[in-house]
Amino acid sequence: MIKTDIIIIGAGPVGLFTIFEAGLMKLHCHVIDAIPQIGGQLKEIYPKKPIYDIPGFPSVLAGDLIDNLEKQAEPFQPGFTLGERAEDIEKQEDGSFIVTTNEGTQHQAPSVIIAGGLGSFEPRKPLVENLPAFEKKGIEYMVREPELFLNKRLFISGGGDSALDWAIYFAENSELPVGLVHRSDMFRAHKDSVDRVYQLQEKWKIELYTHAEIKKVSGGSQLESIELHQKEREPKTIDVDYWLPLFGLSPKLGPIGNWGLEIEKNAIKVDHTLDYQTNTPGVFAVGDVNTYPGKLKLILCGFHEATLAVQSCYKIINPDKKFTMKYTTVQGVQGFEKVV
Ligand SMILES: Cc1cc2nc3c(=O)[nH]c(=O)nc-3n(C[C@H](O)[C@H](O)[C@H](O)COP(=O)(O)OP(=O)(O)OC[C@H]3O[C@@H](n4cnc5c(N)ncnc54)[C@H](O)[C@@H]3O)c2cc1C
Repeated sequence: MIKTDIIIIGAGPVGLFTIFEAGLMKLHCHVIDAIPQIGGQLKEIYPKKPIYDIPGFPSVLAGDLIDNLEKQAEPFQPGFTLGERAEDIEKQEDGSFIVTTNEGTQHQAPSVIIAGGLGSFEPRKPLVENLPAFEKKGIEYMVREPELFLNKRLFISGGGDSALDWAIYFAENSELPVGLVHRSDMFRAHKDSVDRVYQLQEKWKIELYTHAEIKKVSGGSQLESIELHQKEREPKTIDVDYWLPLFGLSPKLGPIGNWGLEIEKNAIKVDHTLDYQTNTPGVFAVGDVNTYPGKLKLILCGFHEATLAVQSCYKIINPDKKFTMKYTTVQGVQGFEKVV
């Protein structure tokens, strides 16, 4: 049995920052993640994509942000159970919780913070007949290693941030133009990105096809061509090396959805006015996994939520002690002695 002050479920950016905030209050954390590496969506989906809305960083690569969060948490000696999914939670008579993973590893703590993000996520796939035959053979749903697609004949489909951000990245970094295909002419991405796409189209760096879809893919052992259908035009076959259908992810909450927590729209409802506690006292939900009026699924919002949640964990763990918040510039980031 692994014993700690706070069990954190999810080693995404929000789970990692929770370790730091808890550490400042001398609380020890143990983190469980279903995937074998830390970093959540940032390492899994877009490690090389720049992020522009982390305060104090005009631009930071997602992977670098995770490396920094790991360093920031290090002095507090967190424990990790990686590559195991939190499957079950049980409240004990003394008020503590035991969280058991799919591998049977048990963790016990007076409080639990769920930072499970989107849960286990699956890419949304287009309806194209022989799509599975070319998955990982020219068709990819996520950009993990951008170098792979540089200077290649590349087409991207989608009208959201991910599709546009990557189309811009490759248009600016590759020697070949990038094809961008979208079903309508209205994009769901940031306005800045949409403007940039039109600028790059004028420079012949993006070939933009709106009211268009890719309906067929062909090749041998690798993808060789796509069939593009555009409104009021004849279908055309285009030779490509890669096609990236970036239609977003379809989130699946997984086992957490069966823990008796109040769920709304595939997310955990929390008390947003106080501390992001769920309907089970002692269990909190922070980051992308929670919902409340006005919720924004942004990293910096998750950081704020985690900061408030650990204040309440402190009160649960130390009911007789008063904690006076001091700035880290006054108190310093003190190393933390392990409690277990
Ligand atoms: C392409 C893209 C671009 C983005 N760009 C930005 C941006 O520029 N700025 C911004 O602020 N946000 C951006 N976001 C959103 C941002 O990535 C999320 O808000 C952020 O990842 C949420 O962090 P999190 O820690 O809550 O969850 P996640 O990063 O989703 O991490 C959750 C972790 O929990 C684990 N987990 C889930 N269920 C279990 C379980 N039962 N047991 C064990 N582990 C579990 C998962 O494996 C995962 O590792 C972007 C998202 C995408 C997809």
